[in-house]
Amino acid sequence: MKKPEVLVPAGTPEKLRIAIDYGADAVYIGGEHLGLRSRASNFTLSDMQAGVAYAHERHAKVYLAANIVCHENDLNGVVDYLTAVRDSGVDALIVSDPAIISAVLTKVPRLPVHLSTQASAVNYEAVNFWAKHGLERIVLGRETSQQEIKEIKAHTDVEIEAFIQGAMCISYSGRCVMSNYMNNRDANRGGCAQNCRFLYNLMDADGNSLNGKDLFTMSAVDMSLIPEIGEMISTGVDSLKIEGRMKTIHYVSTVANVYRNAVDTYCADPDNFQVNPSWIEELAKISQRRMSFGFFNGKPTKNDELFSHKKPELGYEFIGEVKGQETGRIIIQERNNFSEGDELEFYGPHFFHYFTKVVDLRDEDGNKIDRANHAMMICSIKCDQVLPQETMIRKKKVARVTV
Ligand code: SF4
Repeated sequence: MKKPEVLVPAGTPEKLRIAIDYGADAVYIGGEHLGLRSRASNFTLSDMQAGVAYAHERHAKVYLAANIVCHENDLNGVVDYLTAVRDSGVDALIVSDPAIISAVLTKVPRLPVHLSTQASAVNYEAVNFWAKHGLERIVLGRETSQQEIKEIKAHTDVEIEAFIQGAMCISYSGRCVMSNYMNNRDANRGGCAQNCRFLYNLMDADGNSLNGKDLFTMSAVDMSLIPEIGEMISTGVDSLKIEGRMKTIHYVSTVANVYRNAVDTYCADPDNFQVNPSWIEELAKISQRRMSFGFFNGKPTKNDELFSHKKPELGYEFIGEVKGQETGRIIIQERNNFSEGDELEFYGPHFFHYFTKVVDLRDEDGNKIDRANHAMMICSIKCDQVLPQETMIRKKKVARVTV
């Protein structure tokens, strides 16, 4: 059985390194042009070169998303830019617009092209159409069921990539213009304002609210197929994609860790595979939204729609990164406040977990402190546990008591 690739989003060079350290086989990034995340800290050409070198040294791949819907001026300089992208060593380009596909296939040789999910390929005829034109991989629309993925795999030789985790659009991806109308931001050129997640009210003709104070969204529940990971791998899919280039290093490290562990566990012994409940618990620590299976088991139901505005549950917060260990102490770079006596969870690559209380908290100069409360401050706690490289720290949020 072919082990599918674990493909993780990397919105910044730091996230690229973390994704790979935590087990990603491949990452996808955005460049300064042609990507769908105009507000992300996208990669410059020199970032790309450094990121590719880091990835290739660790046998991982880097794909660049260049998947906007192109209008006339977007194509200026596209061949020069994509030639420079290819020369940076990027392993493939993720594209949806035929204008860019044609430009790459005819004028930028040796740069493999993957069809983006934005092109909504959800049947094998569409997949084979693109394969015939020279594309090496097709990223299926998120609206594809398990049965359809099997059918597609049975009728094509081209590589197939399918989404396994992340946000869903309430329209077919790449076909929503709510943000263009409401915010003058082009959803399909990197500017989606996520209008489907705004809070809405229903009014009668006189402006009276028909739903009182119960505001609602028009969004879809996020997808997480970890409980169905065995079924997904058994479709024969080549790559498992995780959504979220705008997400934090807490998210990137956690999803890479969970899916690496899950895929390795399944592939080591598919016949006796069981879902590990701690994978589900881990993923719940990075999301305050409900999860569903999206379209994987057929048509979504009302449970897959995030209709009512729900108060986020108390989750976990990211505390910081371990920067070193010396003489029974752990050196921490803080990202969010924590205090003497707090319960911390340390987690690292290969699904490492360790829990301990904060004891003898000190600042960088060795002075005893009660609280680490300056962003990025260096501090240390007493602890003898040996931690793996790249260990991160989180803690459970506690409810604020108001009087
Ligand atoms: S507004 Fe919502 S449905 Fe539309 S593109 Fe943005 S996230 Fe997707």
